[in-house]
Amino acid sequence: MKSSIRNAKHILRQIFDSDYFPEGADVVRNRPDKFEVGRCIPFLILHLGCLGVLWVGWSWTAVVVALFLYAVRMFAITAFYHRYFSHRTFRTSRIAQFLFAVIGNMAIQRGALWWASVHRHHHRHSDEDNDIHSPARQGFLWAHIGWMTSSRNFPTDYSAVPDLARYPELRFLNRFDLIVPVLFGLSLFGLGYLLERFFPSLGTSPAQIFVWGFFVSTTVLLHGTLFINSLAHTFGRRRFATGDDSRNSLLLALLTLGEGWHNNHHRYMYSARQGFYWWEIDISYYLLKFLSLLGIVWGLREVPKVVYDESQNARFSYRRAKP
Ligand SMILES: [Zn+2]
Ligand SMILES: [Zn+2]
Repeated sequence: MKSSIRNAKHILRQIFDSDYFPEGADVVRNRPDKFEVGRCIPFLILHLGCLGVLWVGWSWTAVVVALFLYAVRMFAITAFYHRYFSHRTFRTSRIAQFLFAVIGNMAIQRGALWWASVHRHHHRHSDEDNDIHSPARQGFLWAHIGWMTSSRNFPTDYSAVPDLARYPELRFLNRFDLIVPVLFGLSLFGLGYLLERFFPSLGTSPAQIFVWGFFVSTTVLLHGTLFINSLAHTFGRRRFATGDDSRNSLLLALLTLGEGWHNNHHRYMYSARQGFYWWEIDISYYLLKFLSLLGIVWGLREVPKVVYDESQNARFSYRRAKP
């Protein structure tokens, strides 16, 4: 009895404290890769929650809220979680850094430090045996979402993100990565309540705004982001012989606000833009340019000439550099 109460306490604390590993984070990190049913529960809740539309119905208001939240959070993920926190491709103030870490946290893809540590690992080992998510090595489904159910990928490797870990506010968000999503969900109920009470002609309700803004928008956002690990290493064209399987795809670029130019990105990850040419649509880059005009971000790093020269000479035929 005592031990089951202790276990329940451990589980409860682990849910809220992402850095809590009684057995030690290194022990967890050294476990074998495996699909773990218990870790599917958050994803199941997220997907089953979308079925709520059958009860709450739809309205244009709810759809617009869902689309808006998709766009804002996708921008926070692509421009900040990826291009800023993971690759430091531009600079910003400590306040903006914190604000976009909070908005990124609203995407329910955990904290910026965990996200960046996993992503830096991906670039170090792209499509090699120890890549965390490689469709060529571990299969499409594992690369897409299976890897997130393996507890060995759960602890944040702070040694991979020392430049970010020196900010206590970022460490706090990363450690207690459920606080922001819970507040986000509650504020959607609040928004729905206000809209229903003061703008009844919009024909929406608190439950409808919650289901569309939280479940539907977040689920589509999650898969959009995960497609870069799975589809962007499987389908599309290759401009650069990068030695991994990364691809360029306009469709994925539109869905993810610019991340679909993944082969470009694997060739040169230090640039704030991933669409290297004007015809490679990269909405996150355009928005970053706009934010730089306002002085919110600065020092956007560009693609060097040597990479453009290489691109001119490149042929689309691709031979894998590795056996
Ligand atoms: Zn990749
Ligand atoms: Zn990257």
